[in-house]
Amino acid sequence: VAEAASPQESAFEQALRPRTLDELVGQERVREQLALVLDAAVARERTPDHVLLSGPPGLGKTTIAMIIANQLAAPLRLTSGPAIQHAGDLAAILSGVNEGDVLFIDEIHRMSRPAEELLYMAMEDFRVDVVVGKGPGATAIPLQIPPFTVVGATTRAGLLPGPLRDRFGFTAQLDYYEPSDLDRIVRRSADLLDLQVSAEASAEIGSRSRGTPRIANRLLRRVRDYAEVRADGAVDHAIAQAALDLYEVDDLGLDRLDRAVLDALCRNFGGGPVGIATLAVAVSEERETVEELAEPFLVRLGFLARTPRGRIATPAAWRHLGLTPPAGVDA
Ligand code: ADP
Repeated sequence: VAEAASPQESAFEQALRPRTLDELVGQERVREQLALVLDAAVARERTPDHVLLSGPPGLGKTTIAMIIANQLAAPLRLTSGPAIQHAGDLAAILSGVNEGDVLFIDEIHRMSRPAEELLYMAMEDFRVDVVVGKGPGATAIPLQIPPFTVVGATTRAGLLPGPLRDRFGFTAQLDYYEPSDLDRIVRRSADLLDLQVSAEASAEIGSRSRGTPRIANRLLRRVRDYAEVRADGAVDHAIAQAALDLYEVDDLGLDRLDRAVLDALCRNFGGGPVGIATLAVAVSEERETVEELAEPFLVRLGFLARTPRGRIATPAAWRHLGLTPPAGVDA
């Protein structure tokens, strides 16, 4: 998915990452539930249940996985679904797991089917049979795995097969953040960066972050550049607005991809319904990028609806683009 961060951005994200549940802004319910899961496990001196985190990119799944390991004082191993294409890839990872480790699997829905099956056996029984060889000579070698905790992250829990989903004792659905939370995240980041940001400016950046902490931090970085080059480094409301306009983030936080999707939907396809594959081609993006990055936020804003016949633009979407909804589209 096109949200991949550049090396500089990764270092920046790393520096701003909350390290404890208390430092995590927002997501109160998830924080409280997770604190209970972790505290109970520590009290019982057991490894906690496996944890599944779902939600759009940039909402804090990796951050929470790191916090879990941190609060348990356990080593964190990181891998991702696309890196596990064969059951053998997973077996290799599992054979290196130590007792109490936290294994973070990002994009867990993108593992291959055979690997998924191996994983849920490992999660349930802490043992798997690794098949070596092919045909009549194939043998199953049992592999014992010490108790460990899987933290899986996925953009949509619905993409996981039921048997795998059922192995997670705790599931948290992360939702887009409220503007007030994003405002707090911007102020927290500005403090860590020793950057002076006025209250109006942090609220402005927060409200244009499309509900996403990663984007809030990314925009803050752009605004900081602007303030350093075009002003004295301090960020007031006018500077924040000018910088955000320059980077084509509109007042609702829609970015270029979001607007391209709406634009194609309204101008090329008369507002739909149109299939997701066709829509993705129209904006020259992968289907997954449109589905996982752009759509959830457009749906949340009430600009786009997913119907059995395809995607449709709502009257609000037409108006946001400065267009008149065609007759027959309900107001
Ligand atoms: P995901 O794994 O869901 O794509 P990340 O955990 O990588 O998202 O979060 C992206 C960035 O956003 C992190 O660098 C982190 O600094 C910031 N972030 C995410 N959630 C929060 C939060 N609740 N409070 C403060 N910062 C957050």
